[in-house]
Amino acid sequence: MDEPRTILHVDMDAFYASIEQRDDPSLRGKPVIVGGDGERGVVCAASYEARRFGVHSALASVIAKRRCPHAHFLPVRMSHYVAVSREIFAILRDFTPLCEPLSIDEAFLDVTGSLRLFGGGRAIAEAIRARIKEELDLTASVGVASSKYVAKVASDHDKPDGLVLVPFGEEAAFLAPLPIEVFWGVGPVTAQTLRRLGIEKVDDIQRADPALLEARLGNLADHLGRLARGQDPRPVQPGRRRKSMGSEVTLGEDCADRDALAGHLARQASTVAFGLRSEGLRGRTVVLKIRRPDRGLVTRSETLEHPTDDEVVIVRTAKRLLAEKLPMPAGGVRLIGLQVSGLDPADGQLGLFGASPETEKRRATLKGADAVRRRFGERMIQPASALGHGRRTEASPQAAARAEARGRVKPRPPGGRDEGQSGTSRTNERGRS
Ligand SMILES: [Mg+2]
Repeated sequence: MDEPRTILHVDMDAFYASIEQRDDPSLRGKPVIVGGDGERGVVCAASYEARRFGVHSALASVIAKRRCPHAHFLPVRMSHYVAVSREIFAILRDFTPLCEPLSIDEAFLDVTGSLRLFGGGRAIAEAIRARIKEELDLTASVGVASSKYVAKVASDHDKPDGLVLVPFGEEAAFLAPLPIEVFWGVGPVTAQTLRRLGIEKVDDIQRADPALLEARLGNLADHLGRLARGQDPRPVQPGRRRKSMGSEVTLGEDCADRDALAGHLARQASTVAFGLRSEGLRGRTVVLKIRRPDRGLVTRSETLEHPTDDEVVIVRTAKRLLAEKLPMPAGGVRLIGLQVSGLDPADGQLGLFGASPETEKRRATLKGADAVRRRFGERMIQPASALGHGRRTEASPQAAARAEARGRVKPRPPGGRDEGQSGTSRTNERGRS
């Protein structure tokens, strides 16, 4: 067998409901149901307090209300949850670029290559849980094991707020006492078949006669046999990544003032750099984009020697393009935008490869600034040159998502919620969240 891998399965606890309880402390410790509350509404997520009453995701809201009449029923704020999810994945990718999202609140991480840097699997799991708690005030459950399958079972084993490590070689013993429902791909029908064969626990599969199993279960027997021994060779596959990140603004009136335009670029550089860092990316090419009053598009780009996620580098490059490469159109500029492309995962292990102390210091500064920005909103931290240029009208999705994420530190408007997307079955959370 190959070198043992160390794989983490990170799973947020009652994700949507926990975000709502975090955002409105008066809901903490109370049953919270996120979902549609109309006649045909469906529960998307339930807090653990509500689960005690038999409320779970995908349950009809009408039934949920009957089971737990005193629950707080809240609409789904999907784009807010997506923004929080992005911050969680930014934390995860600080530990390894080998991060495979399974859903909005769940991921596999292969940290085999990060063990020496961050300590063992348990240390990494603890560090991830601590950062999620500290920076986002949310809890995650983590399973650590030598395969995806066992890590996933482990993360669920001590939920919520759990950390379960299954040492290499002890996978079969860990799985043995668990009911057969923990098998991937075993639905109620297969479970019934297995029970009829006297198979109730993983242990029963481990001890069963393989020939008998195959006679009764066909191909499934081999699959279950492997899983029962904790064998799952599938690699962690990082998802496809975005190719560029940008921010642009259509100006209130056409503008030919290079200083004013440079101010917009500074703000956009800050937004884009924050977005890059949040997604664990760096880019190599800075693109300045403008639209003339006749709507014609002009772009100028420069490719950097080293990929960056630092607004200082990005804005310096963009301003140079503005000053030196861009003839000012007659009548000025209607829209100005900044984009960084040629993106690659930022190596979470920076500093190992001889980064200068200045670089490390700069990174620490940016990290601190990002944490403040995540907590209090992006306007708290801006380069000096971005101040005093009027209202932001950036329309990038990143900016919009963050604008919404900012809402969480503001008090709720009385009697209402700041976003009204109603919950329906189309945003169902997974069964166990
Ligand atoms: Mg979850």
